[in-house]
Amino acid sequence: METILLLAHTEIDGSLAKSAREALHAAATLHKSLAGSKLVIGLIGENVQAAANSIAACPATKHLGVTGADFSQSRYATDAAAAEAIFKAAQATVIVAPATSRWARVLPGVAQRLGGRVDTHVTGAAAADGKISVNRWYYKQRMEGALTRTQRPWFIGVDPGSQTACDCGAGTAEVEMVAVNLTEAQKRTTVVGLREPKADAQTIRPDAQLLFVTGAGWTKKQADGQTHVPEAEKLILGFLKATRASLGSSKSLVDLGGEGQAVLPFLSHLNQIGQTGATPRHAKGLSTCCHGEEPHTVGWRFINERRAISLDPNCGWARGKADVLYVADAFAVMQKVNESLATKT
Ligand SMILES: Cc1cc2nc3c(=O)[nH]c(=O)nc-3n(C[C@H](O)[C@H](O)[C@H](O)COP(=O)(O)OP(=O)(O)OC[C@H]3O[C@@H](n4cnc5c(N)ncnc54)[C@H](O)[C@@H]3O)c2cc1C
Repeated sequence: METILLLAHTEIDGSLAKSAREALHAAATLHKSLAGSKLVIGLIGENVQAAANSIAACPATKHLGVTGADFSQSRYATDAAAAEAIFKAAQATVIVAPATSRWARVLPGVAQRLGGRVDTHVTGAAAADGKISVNRWYYKQRMEGALTRTQRPWFIGVDPGSQTACDCGAGTAEVEMVAVNLTEAQKRTTVVGLREPKADAQTIRPDAQLLFVTGAGWTKKQADGQTHVPEAEKLILGFLKATRASLGSSKSLVDLGGEGQAVLPFLSHLNQIGQTGATPRHAKGLSTCCHGEEPHTVGWRFINERRAISLDPNCGWARGKADVLYVADAFAVMQKVNESLATKT
């Protein structure tokens, strides 16, 4: 009989992130499909009561918490100690956690300490005939594998964005506190601050509805024999500002910087979509000035509705990679789109 533990950490403001609710959805799905199983919630943070209350209506039999100032920040030693203590208090066999950067670096170590196994980048979990199976993608999202394990404890890191978030309602949860005695050595590392790009410079937005992809065409000579990089920059940033879309790029465009050519300064390899880049999940995608070659479009695997603007009617997008291809000048199209967006804001 499985005891499924949802292991989550709170955010700085004490709330639960969407990724935690997604992992809870996966844990609750397993619990529902496994007769006789138990669901336990384990929360870590400075104070976890508000987070526990926000999901009080979920079908958990128990809420456990490790709290205090020592557990407010992401730190391997204290997070691992807290996870281990909650695991023991819950007597869990299967531990489901959101694969946030905080948990992703801690859980494999905890699994090792406890003689368990861990699966990372899990995108699906199900149970049938008393057997749990999880899904994950291999070889840059080209092959999907489903696997089961007999080893317990089994730690499952659920990729953010891969599940629907659990919508169980709020209430009042009774949280049982679990004591963790930390040594001074475990508190040696201190987070002195967080540095992140300004909101406007942060162009990668995993939660955005739309992925806007820029290709090398934006920096190529146009019909007048000239390049128009400053104009391209204005059009792209204008569109992003108006739509809050996430910015993706082809490899060719982000590589140009290294080759000494004119580039768009707000792009880095982190924006690259494709075989050697990212495979994001957005409802819609719009590609501009990109040829749509296979190594690029393989990164669009999880984009549901795809459109592209390219001058080339024989580009990859025209060969079944896009739902709609506009054979047009992206400079002219985006100019009109931005004008139209400006009248709506
Ligand atoms: C092992 C390997 C791994 C790779 N991994 C990746 C990867 O992860 N991601 C990736 O993106 N690529 C990857 N590539 C490279 C990939 O094969 C392509 O070379 C790359 O995607 C091409 O980028 P592009 O379409 O932006 O540029 P180009 O091929 O130069 O295409 C530019 C396009 O812009 C169009 N254009 C120009 N001006 C305009 C305009 N005004 N309006 C509209 N359209 C215009 C042109 O018609 C052209 O179709 C990989 C390649 C290899 C060999």
